[in-house]
Order: sequence, then C-alpha cells, then structure tokens
Amino acid sequence: MTSNGKSISLRKITKAWADPPAVDGVDLEIPAGQFTALLGPSGCGKSTTLRIIAGLEYPDSGAVVIGDQDVTSLPPAKRNIAMVFQSYALFPHLSVAENITFGLRTRRVPQTERTDRLSRVADLLELTPYLDRKPSQLSGGQQQRVALGRAIIAERPVCLMDEPLSNLDARLRHEMRSEIRALQQKLGFTMVYVTHDQVEAITMADQVALMNKGHVEQAASPREIYERPATVFAARFIGTPPMNLIPAAAFGAKAGGLASRDFLIGIRPEVMTLSQGGPMEATVVEAEFLGSETLVTCQAGDSRFVVSAPGGMSINRGEAVTIGFKPENMHLFDGETGARCDGELNSVAAALCGKQ
Ligand code: ADP
Ligand code: MG
Repeated sequence: MTSNGKSISLRKITKAWADPPAVDGVDLEIPAGQFTALLGPSGCGKSTTLRIIAGLEYPDSGAVVIGDQDVTSLPPAKRNIAMVFQSYALFPHLSVAENITFGLRTRRVPQTERTDRLSRVADLLELTPYLDRKPSQLSGGQQQRVALGRAIIAERPVCLMDEPLSNLDARLRHEMRSEIRALQQKLGFTMVYVTHDQVEAITMADQVALMNKGHVEQAASPREIYERPATVFAARFIGTPPMNLIPAAAFGAKAGGLASRDFLIGIRPEVMTLSQGGPMEATVVEAEFLGSETLVTCQAGDSRFVVSAPGGMSINRGEAVTIGFKPENMHLFDGETGARCDGELNSVAAALCGKQ
C-alpha cells in the first residue's frame, strides 16, 4: 500500500476577506513525498492556505499546481487529496470498520477490495481488534487513528492535516506525532500539516514553512531555520527558550563603532555562559531551576536576556556576572527590517568579542 506523493506549488497566492489579507502573496514549493509543516501563530493564514490547496477556498489571485496540473479552479473532489481536520467527526452510529471504509463505499469500490484495503489499514494503525466497536467505545487516541485510517485508505498522493492533534492530551500528542510521521514515511505520500506548535513542526517535518501575517517568513528544514533564521521573527519562533535579541548598545563601549546602525545581536540561551571576562557585563534578575538546566534571566543596560546554565550551578538574584559566547554563535539582524545581516556579521563579532 503505497501512494506516490505529488509535489505542490503555490504561486503568489493571495486571499483577502478584509484588510490586511489572510494570505498575502504566498510562494511555496512543497516537494513530492515529503512532510511540510505550515507553522505560525494563530491567525497568520495557515488554515486558509491549506483550504486553498484543498479547494475549499479559492484564492483571489495566484495559482495552485499539484504534480504537473494547475488545479486552481478545480473543486476539492477533483484534486485527489485526503484531509484530516482538528474536529475529525467520526459517525457515532457506524462501526470503526464502516467509518474507515465510508468513502470507499460512496465511491462504489467493490466489497472485496474494500475488505482488503480495510485489513491493511487496520493492521497498520493497530485497529484490527476494534473494527466492530463504535467510536464512543474507543479512547481519544484510537478515535484519532480511525480518522487517520479514513484519510489514508483512499491512497491519495497528497494528505492535508489541520492541527489534527490539538484535542489530545500531551502524552497522546507525543505518541501520535511519531505515528503520523512514520505512516507518512512508510506510505510516501506528500503531507501538508498545519500546526501552531513549533516542537510539533520541527520534530515531524522535512520542511517547515513558517508563516507570519499571511506571508511565508522562511521555508527550510527545521535545522536550517534553527541554525540560520532568516528574520527576527523566525529567530524568536523556533527554539525553547527563544533566541535572545540584544540591541548592540547593551554591549557598552564595545558597541561604539556600531552606533551608526540599529543592529540586534542574536544569541541562543544554550550557547551563552556565565563566565569571567566575557564580552558583556550583566546582573542576574532571576534564576529558574529546571533540573538539568537553570534559566538565568540577566539584565545589561535596558535589555534582558536568558542564559541556560548547568542545573547544578548556584546563582543568586542581584549577582554581577559576565556573559560569554563564541563569535561563531552570534546572529545579526537589522533592527529596523528584522532581516538577517550575514554581510556585517564578522565585523560586528570582531568589535564585540575583540577578535577575528
Ligand atoms: P490560522 O489557521 O493561521 O490561525 P486562518 O487562516 O484561519 O489562520 O485565518 C487567517 C485570517 O483570515 C484570520 O484573520 C481569520 O479571521 C480570517 N479568516 C479566515 N477564514 C475566514 C472567512 N471564511 N471569512 C472571513 N475571514 C476569515
Ligand atoms: Mg487554523
């Protein structure tokens, strides 16, 4: 049971019900057979983008191409897509088996083929012992698996999911994350998966399309976004706790030569140390002990930032510290536009850290 995935191409998609538009010039390449997560805060246009791929909404302008076919004006039924939504609404009066095969029956797939496909899907999702039960006799995780089964039994090349795990508790969400990912890899379909949870996106996806206010802020592998965020927004959205963004002025006299430009220095909490002789002096505002690490909030000038220190370290509020970090762990952003500034990074690092 494999369905070969198809690529999806979104070309300058715009959709506006009001001002500002819900989706504003989205260009995105979704590779065939890969897992792409649409990630971003509530209201940034993820669901609208997904619904436009599905054909449940039509864009005001732009094109949707699936495989080599322009589907922009095709209805959902002609797009050969499977979908799973947050409210997966199983039919309460139908058995698990009937719920999963419902779509096949409405499309008049012959009985023997239905039975065949059902047994493979049930096996894959470990639902075989429950096929005769009603949804109300299943746990939340099992119900979610029935919804997945209903989507994958159709063997479509593209599967769209909109926050399918948000009704589950934390433990089940964690479990279903790896199940969905494994299923997608095993079957080889193209997945477009909407979530507002950065951990979900970076643990599941090959590609993360990070959205903000209707546009794609950055589309790249989770690792690339973590290591080279393209904008201040991406830097703050990926990583827990988020990257510190410190105005150059907080570095005191060392920043003197940089005053001509409003730079933000980005440094992740996990690569900062409380050390002697570091490039920046600060005061401890708060220390939050978390076991394996202690999150230390520091203040230098007007700016606050977080250092992830070893769990066993004893740190007191009000203590004076110096902050250490390696120049290669610095990121540099334009304080006005938020854009990454790789061109100036070396000279700024040299000015602040005192070496090349
Ligand atoms: P997300 O899924 O990222 O939370 P949505 O795509 O659902 O965001 O919504 C993006 C914006 O579009 C929001 O401001 C939302 O209120 C608006 N919107 C979505 N659907 C409709 C609709 N059918 N009519 C009017 N406004 C809508
Ligand atoms: Mg949504």
